[in-house]
Amino acid sequence: MKIWLMGLACALWLGGGLAMAREPVPAGEEDQLRGIVRNLLDDNNAFVKSHKKGYFQPFVDGQHPRATVVTCADSRVHAQAIDNNPDGDLFMVRNIGNQISTAEGSVEYGVHHLHTPLLLIVGHVACGAIKAARSDYSKESPAIRRELDTIKLPPKNAKMDEKEDILEGIRVNVNNQVSFAMKKFKAEVAEGKLQVIGAIYDFRDDLHQGQGRLVITNINGNTDAGAILSGLMQYSGASMSLDKKAAPNRNDKPKSTEH
Ligand SMILES: [Zn+2]
Repeated sequence: MKIWLMGLACALWLGGGLAMAREPVPAGEEDQLRGIVRNLLDDNNAFVKSHKKGYFQPFVDGQHPRATVVTCADSRVHAQAIDNNPDGDLFMVRNIGNQISTAEGSVEYGVHHLHTPLLLIVGHVACGAIKAARSDYSKESPAIRRELDTIKLPPKNAKMDEKEDILEGIRVNVNNQVSFAMKKFKAEVAEGKLQVIGAIYDFRDDLHQGQGRLVITNINGNTDAGAILSGLMQYSGASMSLDKKAAPNRNDKPKSTEH
């Protein structure tokens, strides 16, 4: 929330600055912008009214989040889908394609300085970054190209249609991030201080586990169905789902009927 408000403050400041420098926008557009900012401030006002001093007390002097979460900047993916009270609880790192390498310092801060026992990598269905990485993005700006260059996907499987290919790319990217983390934080994992979990947030029910479900696809580098299941069983009361499609041992024959 603090980051959000900071972002809002920046947006207001930038908005003021830009308004002086740029050409006047059509009235309709200005009305729209005013409406957006008004909505945000109204929502913030409601938040202030409904959250009293006691709510902020646990984290006014410092943060002790339980998890570092690396997820996509996509507007359809937000902390409240996995945490009723993410304030002070989740150290959120967001960028296109939920990558560690493009925000490595931030992820390191969560693990090394905040000592979160969990590093959760959350990819999501219909990820535009994966779609872009799968296509010709040479006309994108250098900054966007740089962030797409680090998404490494295997050659396209001719047997898969576009939707399956993107979904597979999303899984592979999450697995790549978990592998990256397992190497980077090898010592913490070996000492039992850190678990690295990969998951896909599914707001479309592409994985057939229910709309809005967080589906676990990788635990500490293991994508085998049995290993994930036994891993999940450690978490008493966990309602996180197993990706029936992604989790089976990759050496098994794919079940085409599940696609
Ligand atoms: Zn995305």
